[in-house]
Amino acid sequence: MIIVLKPNATEQQITHLVKRVKALGLKPMISKGIERTIVGVIGEEELLRVQPLEVFPGVEKVVPILSPYKLVSREFKPADSVIKLNGSTAIGGTPLVVMAGPCAIENYETLLTVAKAVKKAGATVLRGGAFKPRTSPYSFQGLGEEGLKFLKDVGKKVGLLTVTELMDVRDLGLVERHVDIIQIGARNMQNFDLLKELGLAKKPVLLKRGMSATIKEWLLSAEYILQNGNFNVILCERGIRTFETDTRFTLDINAIPVIKAASHLPIVVDPSHSTGKWGLVAPIAKAGIAAGADGLIIEVHSKPEEALCDGPQSMLPERFAKLMTELRRVARAVGREL
Ligand code: PEP
Ligand code: MN
Repeated sequence: MIIVLKPNATEQQITHLVKRVKALGLKPMISKGIERTIVGVIGEEELLRVQPLEVFPGVEKVVPILSPYKLVSREFKPADSVIKLNGSTAIGGTPLVVMAGPCAIENYETLLTVAKAVKKAGATVLRGGAFKPRTSPYSFQGLGEEGLKFLKDVGKKVGLLTVTELMDVRDLGLVERHVDIIQIGARNMQNFDLLKELGLAKKPVLLKRGMSATIKEWLLSAEYILQNGNFNVILCERGIRTFETDTRFTLDINAIPVIKAASHLPIVVDPSHSTGKWGLVAPIAKAGIAAGADGLIIEVHSKPEEALCDGPQSMLPERFAKLMTELRRVARAVGREL
C-alpha cells in the first residue's frame, strides 16, 4: 500500500503518520521525491484497511500496490533511481555507464592491459570475476582473493570503478572491501539468503536476470535487497534460455521497456553472455541502448583465444573502442550521453 502525501505535508504530519503505521506493526518506507513524499507500507495490508488513513493530516490518498513487488515498483517511487557509484559517476540518469573487462581475472598483466584499453575507449567500470560460476567443476574457478586484490589495484591505478561477482555469502565482507559494485550472477538470482544479506551491504548491487526467470521473479529478487534497506540495485538483462541454439542465450529486448515501466531501478544490458559470440556484441549493445538501457556490461580480452573463460564472446580492445564510438551516436539519438 502506498500513502501519497500532499505536496505541502509537514515533517510533523509525516512523523505522526509513520508512528501510527509502526504502531500497527507495519514497516513504513519513506520515499522523498522533489514534489512530494510517498510512504510505502509493507506487511499485512489488512491491518491498514481498518485505519482511515485518508483522513490523516497531510495525506492525499491511499493506493494499494497491485504488483507483487512493492519497493522496486514505479508506484512506490515514480522518478527514476539514479544510483551513485562514486563522487562523479552515477547510473540511471542521462549519462550511460559502460562496464567492461575480462570474464575472469586471470593474471595482473592481462587485467592491466585490458583495463587501460577500456578506460581509453570510455568505459567507467572495470569488470572481472574472481569467483566464477562454472558449469563444470573442472573449469577454471577464478583466482579468489588474489584476483580481488588485482582488481582493486588495477582499478585504482587506471582510474576505473570495479565490479565483480559474489557467489557465497561468506565472501560478502571480502568482496565489499575490494570492489565498488557487487555483481550477483544469473545462477544466484534466486539465492534468497544471499539477496537478504546484500540488503545490508553498503555497496550497490548489479543483479543479473536468471536465465529462466520471468521479469516478475527478477523484480521480486530485487525486492529482497531493497526490503533490507539497500536501494542501490542495478538490474542486468543478460539473455534468457529459449529454443534457439545459434546464440548462447536470447536477449530479451522487451524486458528493457517492461522494466522501465514497472520499476524505477536502472537496467543495463549484457550483450556478451546473451549472444555468446563477439561478432554479435556490437549490434546487440546498440539495440540495448536504443531500447532504453542505462548502460552495458561487455567482456573484453586482449587475447580472447587464450582466455580461461568466455573467450568466444570476448571482444578485442580495438573492436571495443570502435563500438564505443558508434555507441555515442546511438546514445545521442535517444537523448543519452556517453
Ligand atoms: C559473468 O558476468 O561472467 C557471468 C557469469 O554472467 P551470468 O551470471 O550472466 O552468466
Ligand atoms: Mn563471462
